[in-house]
Amino acid sequence: MPITPRLLLGPGPSTAHPRVLAALATPLVGHLDPQFLALMDEVQERLRRLFGTQNALTLPLSATGSAGMEACLVNLLEPGDAIVVGVAGVFGERMCDVAARAGARVTRVDAEWGTALSPDAMGDAIAKARPKAVAFVHAETSTGVLQPVEPIARAAKKAGALLILDCVTSLGGIPVTLDAWGVDAAYSGTQKCLSCPPGLSPVSFSPRAVESVLARKTKVQSWYLDVSMLARYYGGERVYHHTAPISMIYAIAEALRVVDEEGMPARAARHRAAAAALIEQLAPLGFTPLVAPEVRLPSLTTLRVPERVIAAGEAKLRRRLLDEHDIEVGGGLGKLAGSVWRVGLMGENATVESVTHLERALGQL
Ligand SMILES: *Cc1c(COP(=O)(O)O)cnc(C)c1O
Repeated sequence: MPITPRLLLGPGPSTAHPRVLAALATPLVGHLDPQFLALMDEVQERLRRLFGTQNALTLPLSATGSAGMEACLVNLLEPGDAIVVGVAGVFGERMCDVAARAGARVTRVDAEWGTALSPDAMGDAIAKARPKAVAFVHAETSTGVLQPVEPIARAAKKAGALLILDCVTSLGGIPVTLDAWGVDAAYSGTQKCLSCPPGLSPVSFSPRAVESVLARKTKVQSWYLDVSMLARYYGGERVYHHTAPISMIYAIAEALRVVDEEGMPARAARHRAAAAALIEQLAPLGFTPLVAPEVRLPSLTTLRVPERVIAAGEAKLRRRLLDEHDIEVGGGLGKLAGSVWRVGLMGENATVESVTHLERALGQL
């Protein structure tokens, strides 16, 4: 059965850019072909720029965002190591699970879903636990909160801890400046603000993080995600580790060119303008933002669904948007299930036109 195209305004994947889809059809070359190695160099260079870092170990991991999370945690943590994790949604929760599976002693600092982490609570926990690492999510896709990075980064630095940041729903939509913030390990995904299909996870490790990996007493328990081995494939030596997903590298290269042509300041402004238009245009229909303006995430807006829509069954309305208008929006997760919608305006979809399209469709239901 042919697939009907949709306007993807959920929490991801977002609609892929046509240039990115065209790049996927490029004929394959070998993964050690000089042309491919040059393309990989280009991707790594563009990723460094977008992450705001000079980190040599910056590469597109051959797996989705969750594998980036796992790579950061399993490389930096050994059994018995302490970590403080900020939890304000699904993805902070997932970090705790991954860290605990790596044998770490996890101290979690919770915040109400829909609010930001308290830098004071994080600072207190960090001062008390003296952890090897501190981790939290920059853009919590499950709630629509943009976490201010600096205050927590300062607390981590003061304690000498490595800082791990989830940038899955921020990279390419919101400015990310790893070096200025003092982030030691970060990961993202291709299918959110980069308008590329899911399948790669850009990651970046600071020299200090790399030192910590090389100084481990035990081997990283994951062979596939061991960055000391990955560094030899993506770095100068080009030692075979695994076969890079060639077509996805074509895709991310094109996606990053699209980002660079627009420039991050313009792109960030476009994401902010689209989110503002969404809130304004859906207000007359009774949708109100869940998150306070100071910490509202532009790339994903959580909207409280009006009572009449809850009464009619919000999931049914989302299904009708999909069936009758080919528009996908996300439902709430966990405690927010049934009472909110999550509307992603990511990458190419971060436009006032997408918002108007959604508003018109809602008006017809
Ligand atoms: C989507 C997402 C992930 C997980 O990425 P996958 O590509 O689904 O594995 C992790 N963190 C955040 C904040 C996300 O939005």
